[in-house]
Amino acid sequence: MRKIKEGVREIILKSPIWSLYIRRDLRLPCDCYSSPYNAPSHFCTKCLGTGHVIRVEKVPLRFSMNTRELKGENDVTLLGRIDQATLRAYSTDKVHPKDNDLIVHTLWNKPGEERDALPTSVLRVYSVQIAFPMMQDEISFYELGLNPYHAYLPELINGLREHPLNIGVY
Ligand SMILES: [Zn+2]
Repeated sequence: MRKIKEGVREIILKSPIWSLYIRRDLRLPCDCYSSPYNAPSHFCTKCLGTGHVIRVEKVPLRFSMNTRELKGENDVTLLGRIDQATLRAYSTDKVHPKDNDLIVHTLWNKPGEERDALPTSVLRVYSVQIAFPMMQDEISFYELGLNPYHAYLPELINGLREHPLNIGVY
């Protein structure tokens, strides 16, 4: 029997959205956190304002709206929760995403050759609300529930230049 893992991997890699994946190590606060304000600096290029030690990777993802939940969200739009519309991303089993990591949806200077490309602008930033492993004997793939993340874009773009853009394991 063909494994789900292989089918999903094929779908993700067929036409991926290459994104920057920012892994946050929540155990390690950034040096900027010892400021008198007891909060991370939005201008910190080391942690990109997250307050934690980070690693930046390029990873292939797929995004999709969860239509069932989106329909439910329409009912609560009047309560001002429209920003909470659930966006989902999917990664291969090897990406090992974690809650509170960040995903930066960017435009690239070499579309189609993202492995060698540099980001030209940032479209959206999301935080991983939940990284859910989908299992079939082993982890087949991950489904990620995303929330909008309010980043200071000029500082983020500036800070990203200071980081190696590692090719993630996928
Ligand atoms: Zn910092």
